[in-house]
Amino acid sequence: MAAKPTNWAGNVEFAARALRRPTTFEEFREIVATGDRVRVLGSGHSFNRIADTTGDLVVLDGLPRAVEVDSANGTVRVGAATRFAELCPVLRRHGLALPNLPSTPHFTLAGAYATGTHGSGHTGGTLAAAVRSVELVTADGETVTVSRGTDDHFEGTVVSLGSLGVVTALTLETCPTFEVEQYVHEGLAWPAFPEDLTGVLGVAYSVSVFTDWSGPARVWVKRRVGDPPPDPTLLSGTRPADGPRHPIEGMPTANATEQSGVPGPWDERLPHFRAGFVPSVGDELQSEYFVPAERAAEAAAALVELGPLLAPVLRVSEVRTVAADPHWLSPAHGRDSVAFHFTWTSDARAVAGVLPRVEAALAPFDVRPHWGKLSSIAPEATSASYERLEDFRALLERFDPKGTFRNELIDRYFPR
Ligand SMILES: Cc1cc2nc3c(=O)[nH]c(=O)nc-3n(C[C@H](O)[C@H](O)[C@H](O)COP(=O)(O)OP(=O)(O)OC[C@H]3O[C@@H](n4cnc5c(N)ncnc54)[C@H](O)[C@@H]3O)c2cc1C
Repeated sequence: MAAKPTNWAGNVEFAARALRRPTTFEEFREIVATGDRVRVLGSGHSFNRIADTTGDLVVLDGLPRAVEVDSANGTVRVGAATRFAELCPVLRRHGLALPNLPSTPHFTLAGAYATGTHGSGHTGGTLAAAVRSVELVTADGETVTVSRGTDDHFEGTVVSLGSLGVVTALTLETCPTFEVEQYVHEGLAWPAFPEDLTGVLGVAYSVSVFTDWSGPARVWVKRRVGDPPPDPTLLSGTRPADGPRHPIEGMPTANATEQSGVPGPWDERLPHFRAGFVPSVGDELQSEYFVPAERAAEAAAALVELGPLLAPVLRVSEVRTVAADPHWLSPAHGRDSVAFHFTWTSDARAVAGVLPRVEAALAPFDVRPHWGKLSSIAPEATSASYERLEDFRALLERFDPKGTFRNELIDRYFPR
């Protein structure tokens, strides 16, 4: 019997009865229209069962992938299975850019938007903020386009956990291309420091703080060429790294994007990891939690207390900012946020042991877990944090009355 497909991390073996890879839209439509249970797999970088189904798991990378740039309007219409690593160089050739990118460009666009994937920066919401319209095929095989400013359920459709239908294409807003310089500063006196956390996270266009919650932290500063230099008082006590770094100690620096202030295109500096190389560790698990920005210093202080407990299972933590956005299920919905990320070892049992401790430490801060990463927070607790949750549940019933795109995770968060 053929081995079951797994996610990128290998911690999820999909329960799907079949993995389907249609090569024509007709074939694809047929799978959706005749399937009792269907789910799409993007590039499989989520760490939980969000992409899983007991029916047909469909991969869209065999379908033609459009990239149609409309320079006059500054938009691009792009096939949903396209990866950021494919799209960005095309935009750049047209003098265009996306304002924000995740840590690595390996994800499909639809997979990333579905889970509220984000980068870092005081000015940028989740990546969903760039989406202008979504084209989806619903359970009856119909194509529906949902657009910003036209459809009042647009904000429920972009970050929709793959549960409204199969996204086939997206139209994105772009901005003029720009260059970025990336610097790594080491020695941030982290445990004593967090009260000015949001200040540090705002020293440049995009900033990440990497910490193990016990020793000094490293600050990855991504400054747009032409922006003012970072306020040195916010980085006082740090020193520039004496060579290239990988966010995770001991991993090959060749996998990381260029540093030391060498200017380069936005898509080769905003992600930490280069296209074509293994991102992060590869052998790992991940979790991430969003708290309101104004509570971030307190939340960080609570995590510092857990430093010794986390040490055996933690490869590194990353702290980033995400501006408020209007998407109903975005973890940054309605509030400027700070996201606390954990790259764990691949020891699932040990990680499961520490998650409740992390979550208990963050519980006082109205925490929202990342939809595509590991969490043991009860769905009811998460749901209570989303004020548009009932609107989303209604949208789910409207788009998918038969439950074709439901899976166990969706049923837990949105019971019928
Ligand atoms: C190394 C690494 C680094 C990461 N860095 C970041 C980061 O910087 N920021 C961050 O926020 N997250 C990050 N993540 C998490 C990642 O962004 C999310 O898990 C994202 O959803 C992965 O995209 P994917 O294409 O792999 O989607 P998948 O994991 O394959 O799928 C995610 C969801 O999208 C749905 N989906 C996919 N395609 C479609 C479609 N065409 N139509 C409808 N539904 C669809 C799936 O059914 C599923 O529900 C990271 C993960 C890894 C492994």
